[in-house]
Amino acid sequence: MSGWFSSDYRCKQCYFTFDKITKKDEKEEPQECPQCQQDSAERIMSIPNNLRHTYHDGCKRDESWQRLKKASKLEREMISKPEKDRQEYRNEISKLKKPK
Ligand SMILES: [Zn+2]
Repeated sequence: MSGWFSSDYRCKQCYFTFDKITKKDEKEEPQECPQCQQDSAERIMSIPNNLRHTYHDGCKRDESWQRLKKASKLEREMISKPEKDRQEYRNEISKLKKPK
């Protein structure tokens, strides 16, 4: 499927973001927003899929941010676990928080 790729668009009216499959040589025209139906969605940038998880709100997050985010998710999960299961979580969390 060469020539086709997925782009991220953001609506200038309602800030809704969405993916759209477009042709590589397609002109950059405002696209219709699926949320408010206005032709005011603009291409943000094209991000290779293997990098996509490191981006959020158009900002690049580095690996340590990813680790901290995962650690805080585990901390939240740990609260709902019985004490006997928590040690495993603590080990994982301290591994994640440790600098490389
Ligand atoms: Zn919109």
